[in-house]
Amino acid sequence: MSALSIFNNGWLSLFLLLTGPFLGSFISASALTWPDRSNLRTSRSQCAQCGAELTLADLVPLFSFLLLRGRCRHCKTPIRRQHIIAELASTTIALSSVLVFDGWLMLASAGLGMVLLFIALVDYRTRLIPDGASFSLIGSGPLVLYFMQGVDGLKAGLGGAIIGYGIFWLVAFAYRHLRGREGLGMGDAKLLAGGGAWMGPFALPWIVLLAASTAIVGLLVGSKGKSLHRETELPFGPALAIAIYAIWLWSSTNPTNLILL
Ligand SMILES: [Zn+2]
Repeated sequence: MSALSIFNNGWLSLFLLLTGPFLGSFISASALTWPDRSNLRTSRSQCAQCGAELTLADLVPLFSFLLLRGRCRHCKTPIRRQHIIAELASTTIALSSVLVFDGWLMLASAGLGMVLLFIALVDYRTRLIPDGASFSLIGSGPLVLYFMQGVDGLKAGLGGAIIGYGIFWLVAFAYRHLRGREGLGMGDAKLLAGGGAWMGPFALPWIVLLAASTAIVGLLVGSKGKSLHRETELPFGPALAIAIYAIWLWSSTNPTNLILL
């Protein structure tokens, strides 16, 4: 668990760093078309404006964007900003996993980050969190903790998932009764359960705190001076996804190690 791991796990690191940007490109296209998978191919291999076929040279993550200055080669329409943001995010996820973790945990960490990136992109566009993605985190987290810390890890993961879901279920229940409308969605509860599954119950307060702060900052930046009111929707799904990955990295490098029960 040091920056030296990049040398100890040379091939694995190289593999992750090279595939990271491409994964972002693929995740971005999948998130744009979710839940409909039938037009997945065209969404990224054609210009959304003029329909021109994009060649391999147009689709190299990060580099094509810089080379073409973010515009379609043919009609000069700006390329969706989501694609470059996703490619930068997936590159950051790959790099941080390589720097913080060793061996198989490197791959697990990158996998967690990529699923969270998909969730953040879909939720930002549709205000829905794909159940399948959250369930994949709830299922994989306790296993990862088991391989890290044995049966105690497994228990922490299962407990974290249940308590994570329970906390948000209670908040949503209270909100519905006090305000008479939906505040938090159950999608948020399943996502928090995914975070608890990967880090155990003691990481939950940190995840919620960081997610709330991130959502508020996002709201203030996104509103650009427009007035906020009570009905303004918090971008909570993406904030939760960012917080889960950040706390995952932080708790793994912290000597007090939140993950341990
Ligand atoms: Zn075009």
